[in-house]
Amino acid sequence: MSARPPISAPGGNGDRARGAAAGSHLVVVGGGVAGLGTALAAARAGHRVTILERDATPMPASADLAFEWDRRGAPQVRHSHAFLARLRNLLVERAPDVYDALLDAGATELRFTDDLPPTLTDREPRPGDERLCAIACRRTTFEWVLRRAVLAIAGVEFRDGVAVDGLIAERGRSNAIVNVVGVHGRAVSGGDSATAAATETGRPFEMAADLVVDATGPRTASPGWLTDIGVDEPAELLVPSEIIYLSRFYRLRDGFEAPEASGPIGGDLGYLKYAVFVGDSRTFSITFAIDTDDRAMRALTEVEGFEAAAAQLVAAQPWLDGRSEPITGVHPMAGLRNRRRYFVRDGEPIVTGFVAVGDASVCTNPLYGRGCSLALVHAFGLADLLDRTPRALALDFAEFTEREIDPWFRAAVQQDREARELLDPAPSGPGAAPSGSGAAPSGSGPAAAGDVDPKQLLRDVFREGLLPAVRTSPIVYRAFLRWFNLESTPDALMTDGEVIAAVMQSYAERGARPPEPALGPGRAEFLAAL
Ligand SMILES: Cc1cc2nc3c(=O)[nH]c(=O)nc-3n(C[C@H](O)[C@H](O)[C@H](O)COP(=O)(O)OP(=O)(O)OC[C@H]3O[C@@H](n4cnc5c(N)ncnc54)[C@H](O)[C@@H]3O)c2cc1C
Repeated sequence: MSARPPISAPGGNGDRARGAAAGSHLVVVGGGVAGLGTALAAARAGHRVTILERDATPMPASADLAFEWDRRGAPQVRHSHAFLARLRNLLVERAPDVYDALLDAGATELRFTDDLPPTLTDREPRPGDERLCAIACRRTTFEWVLRRAVLAIAGVEFRDGVAVDGLIAERGRSNAIVNVVGVHGRAVSGGDSATAAATETGRPFEMAADLVVDATGPRTASPGWLTDIGVDEPAELLVPSEIIYLSRFYRLRDGFEAPEASGPIGGDLGYLKYAVFVGDSRTFSITFAIDTDDRAMRALTEVEGFEAAAAQLVAAQPWLDGRSEPITGVHPMAGLRNRRRYFVRDGEPIVTGFVAVGDASVCTNPLYGRGCSLALVHAFGLADLLDRTPRALALDFAEFTEREIDPWFRAAVQQDREARELLDPAPSGPGAAPSGSGAAPSGSGPAAAGDVDPKQLLRDVFREGLLPAVRTSPIVYRAFLRWFNLESTPDALMTDGEVIAAVMQSYAERGARPPEPALGPGRAEFLAAL
């Protein structure tokens, strides 16, 4: 990238009449899902966009080759990704060509109502079933397709091998909101763009922008960038997830096909959560989530331990019967979290000319598979506000984040808290954590009403009312999937009268049900086989 002359500092006041009108220049820092999504939505609305990505990731000829990208800036690309119906439906509605390109690149549709559980006797289609469809592909395939679509838009430039180190601000009258007018950084290695390739490593640059978009992901350094220009750090809510992710990718051997799709795709054994994810181009992956403090489970970080573990798990076994071979080692990832940053204080933006999208703004525990969906919702939401003045944009985008993204952040924090309480139940609490089976033992209802902890009762209703009803009630099955896929509100399962009635009936019948099939061995047996 060629060095640009330093940007002068005109006297703005942070609330200029000028909005980021069509034709204005957005500098998007970070070329992951949120950055690419922002570029797609903003460029199609007529804005000029420059994406600055630190990883040197030359654009390969095929999505399959993108799996070889060195994405150390987004190491989660080496982990299984679910692309939920919310994201799929957003693409169908706002960028149908990108959706088609995904399918052309080998992604497949996961239509949840095509594969109803065998236990569901009412198999009639319902209105809205067509929206219950997720996308199955590798994360690198998703990025490759998105990036190709973005590169095809006039006025978009993607510069890789370029790291942003900070913001450039203009200062107005005293007490005015600081307004960001550009970024500075350096080339870290030659990427594929003509300018990046021509740049010697370490060479500094500055770039002017009407709006700087921080899309640098969960490890964003932007709070430091803000303090460097005299802005207070955004307030932050951080809740660590206390799990470690372990993933390995495989490919089906020539002449073999994937197993029948009728069985479970994963399970929660209490001591271990696991799932098998269908990928594209005949790939699939297996992911484990283990407790950060569970040292005995660290054996799973090694290939031998991982394979010995997978061989014991009901949903993984059919994939590992000789029909596939591994194409990666075992990738661990720790430091997972729920984190939310707030860019408005006392009703005023802390800064203008700068916003954060995706994980840089709101990050949720990957277990729930929401990050990419929320990142794209965020990106399109931002693009829809770009005609605002800088102050109005900051305020309206904060309001959008609060309305559309924050409820899922709070839901993730709550789900994490409940999961932890299951692992460490109160000593006197009835109904210990489920272990050794994907489901709680049937008929083990709560103790006499007088002893019942309301939270424990809720957990019991979840395990012995809701989860079985998902497999037997067409209403609960669809409501659960809408909730899981972010197609309803986080509290939808708790507020829909029909769902509540079906769940409570299922709970009342818990004693009459045969035990749920185990989705893996008990912990002691599991560890002994490693
Ligand atoms: C283990 C794991 C599994 C997950 N599974 C799922 C899932 O199943 N489904 C789902 O929807 N979500 C999942 N997520 C979440 C999802 O990956 C994130 O929500 C998503 O990547 C967020 O996109 P982003 O663009 O905000 O950040 P990222 O994808 O992390 O992209 C940030 C980009 O910014 C670049 N960058 C960083 N600093 C700089 C800099 N200074 N200058 C220039 N560039 C920079 C990085 O190189 C990177 O490319 C998972 C996350 C993890 C950790």
